[in-house]
Amino acid sequence: MTELGKLPGVGNRTAQRLAFHLLRTSAQDANALADAIRDVKEKIGPCEVCFNLAEGPRCTICLDERRDSALICVVEEPADVLPIERTHEYRGRYHVLGGALSPIDGVEPEDLKLVQLYARVESADPPIEEIVLATNTTTTGEATALHIADALRHRAPGVAVTRLASGLPVGGDLEYADEVTLGRAFAGRRAL
Ligand SMILES: [Zn+2]
Repeated sequence: MTELGKLPGVGNRTAQRLAFHLLRTSAQDANALADAIRDVKEKIGPCEVCFNLAEGPRCTICLDERRDSALICVVEEPADVLPIERTHEYRGRYHVLGGALSPIDGVEPEDLKLVQLYARVESADPPIEEIVLATNTTTTGEATALHIADALRHRAPGVAVTRLASGLPVGGDLEYADEVTLGRAFAGRRAL
């Protein structure tokens, strides 16, 4: 019960309901769930290229030869990849930062996968044509986008740096944006 209550979005009442549900399920189903949780811990880790979640060294998107490798979409968390995929507006690759810059919370540039992003851009062959900054529309997300745009202007002047169009709720998490809005924001992205 207390372990269930530690899950995000699960309060005491929900934890209780889950516990009652588990008591009613068959031993087989309960074990399947336990195995699934163990598998996540054992098999899933960060992709060595883009830091998205991967079962193995590289994620399915990095392994997919049909994806356009001249395009990189920069997001804060692995959870941001899925809503973008659902829009079907984007056929490039990703780069997951692992958060957003927030000096107040002690999150500095070196705490994010920024060096890895710049290295990817500088060593890309064929070269990267566009980097889409799809960090959240929060203060920290905007600050992170500006920081990256500034760094890329110096390191990779030939690369177009774009930001998702307005229309996304300000202060919102990409993770919760509906796919129509997000799709439109993608189609109408603008240079930064
Ligand atoms: Zn990857």
